[in-house]
Amino acid sequence: MTDRDVLDLFRHAGALLEGHFKLSSGLHSDRYLQSALVLQYPDFAERLGQALGERTKHLQPTAVLSPALGGLVIGQEVGRALNVRALFAERQDGRLMLRRGFTLDPEDRVLIVEDVITTGGSTRETIVVAEAEGAAVVGAASIIDRGSEGSRLDVPLQSLVKLQVVAYDPASCPMCAKGLPVVKPGSRA
Ligand SMILES: [Zn+2]
Repeated sequence: MTDRDVLDLFRHAGALLEGHFKLSSGLHSDRYLQSALVLQYPDFAERLGQALGERTKHLQPTAVLSPALGGLVIGQEVGRALNVRALFAERQDGRLMLRRGFTLDPEDRVLIVEDVITTGGSTRETIVVAEAEGAAVVGAASIIDRGSEGSRLDVPLQSLVKLQVVAYDPASCPMCAKGLPVVKPGSRA
């Protein structure tokens, strides 16, 4: 899949919005991504999972580990494509951990899978979860990499699309300057 194929799936599902948006951080942006909208379609999720599987099979992972909730669906699909277990880590008392009887072995080669990587913070947290089990983390993968150079990881990252979304302080937002109405995505207003 090319960058364009992936973004076409997002547009088709209404998962890539272009306009003037207020992000949860309070900053404004001209684009907004909601990958759950593309992953709700099983055929789209399967195609994205296969594409990530193709790009990561050389790492020879034995398990996929995703942070809940965002990484769950794509993690399952990448696990299916690679024919390896797909586990997820979830928060308890603010800390990401394995629950539900999930375990990793020291022999496991773990691929961390997320839908979108922005700062890399949750990816790094998920790496710590795998390493605490004694497993080796062989790489990370995401559908979209929105990261800046400052968010690089200590493991190789494979993404289907690099998409830098610029966020503006409302005081210096060019869309605000043009008087365009701002929309808060996800709200039902
Ligand atoms: Zn604005």
